[in-house]
Amino acid sequence: MSDAFITETEIAGAPDGPLAGRTVAVKDNISTAGVATTCGSATLADYVPPYDATVVERLKAAGATIVGKTNMDEFGMGTTTETSHFGPTDNPAAPGHVPGGSSGGSAAAVAAGEADLALGSDTGGSVRCPAAFCGVVGIKPTYGLVSRYGLVAYANSLEQIGPFARSVEEAAELLEVIAGPDERDATTRAPPDAGTSTDDRRGAERSTDGRGAAGASTDGRGDVGTSTADLRYADAADGDVDGLTVGVPTELVDGADEGVVETFRDAIGELEDRGATVEEVTLPSVEHAVEAYYVIAMSEASSNLARFDGVRYGTSGGYDGNWNESFARARKAGFGDEVKRRILLGTFALSAGYQEKYYGKAQDARAWVKADFDSVLSEVDVIASPTMPVPPFELGEGLEDPLKLYLADANTVPVNLADLPAISVPAGETDGLPVGLQLVGPAFGERRLIRAASVLA
Ligand code: GLN
Repeated sequence: MSDAFITETEIAGAPDGPLAGRTVAVKDNISTAGVATTCGSATLADYVPPYDATVVERLKAAGATIVGKTNMDEFGMGTTTETSHFGPTDNPAAPGHVPGGSSGGSAAAVAAGEADLALGSDTGGSVRCPAAFCGVVGIKPTYGLVSRYGLVAYANSLEQIGPFARSVEEAAELLEVIAGPDERDATTRAPPDAGTSTDDRRGAERSTDGRGAAGASTDGRGDVGTSTADLRYADAADGDVDGLTVGVPTELVDGADEGVVETFRDAIGELEDRGATVEEVTLPSVEHAVEAYYVIAMSEASSNLARFDGVRYGTSGGYDGNWNESFARARKAGFGDEVKRRILLGTFALSAGYQEKYYGKAQDARAWVKADFDSVLSEVDVIASPTMPVPPFELGEGLEDPLKLYLADANTVPVNLADLPAISVPAGETDGLPVGLQLVGPAFGERRLIRAASVLA
């Protein structure tokens, strides 16, 4: 079995539909009825969900064939896919190196041609990082565009399910299938004024409704689930960037690996050759994004993972008259080191007397990051940076140094804090290792990102 998968299977979809004849790999934290969903964890090694995630229902209805459940960092916690209970995944684009994480198996399956398309989840970069490391395309949708129903939660205020593909257009086709409101996830909503305000450039938005993307119509909800016109993405992949303004934040380029920056600059040059203009911008708050992200993500994780007690979910710890000891045994045996570290830190950050000092402060930083992005995106159409400040690590390289891995998330986590959409598209290589370029746009600005990124892949 390929090391990209934890479970290989064949779940056939409807006989026809937009994805008929296409194979899709699904990250193993997305529920598939009757097929194991392990989250890369020993505690869920035997867990078989009784229902499908909304995105899985939509894949089936669109005619896709699901070919397997992919390897991942345990519960999505990691940047290399090495915290998986089921062992590491090699990088098909750079053998001997990690595929990135946490959705490393999904990116590897697509890079190796073992699936046409894949789904991952992105809490702080887990779609974009593996896309960058494996030389494929990955999209992190605007928070609320894609249903999280049936996604096993890690840090629910930050995460979205997103597509992988070998081209921007194919990733957009998959996004088209999974996007749109879901009555079973109250955080989903319809793109405001879809088709006009999310399209093209800021100028176009202003001329159509005078309010820009921020003037979200609150009435558009009901009809969008049925109106496919509002959720078209694939037809935006036309490479037309004439007149587009691209902001490059100094904070997300300074300090990145030299070869990565060089490859990034060359790719930006291709956008300029097609008529885009590039300017330097600044996002001062992102200096605090990694700290804020890890406090929020660990706090939410400590709460979300409370259900794995061996009674409600997870392998039983056995019962000998003391439930506390039973829960402790289940969690000691069921979780790996990284998951334990995060539950401990998250529980501490939320404990009485410390909550304002850590969680409260992190929420303030999150608001500042949001405000910074809004202000820059009122000046430029998209924001560009290297997706990852470093090329893929060698297998085993980062395991002993969690902080080094946390810092590698510097360019991706600010986007989750700000709830914005982003895409990672292959920019080229440095020393034979793939480099990704990240584009960030305004809320529900996926069409604009797809259009710009389609210049490159
Ligand atoms: N590397 C980040 C983390 O470990 C991102 C993970 C993710 O997006 N699921 O939290």
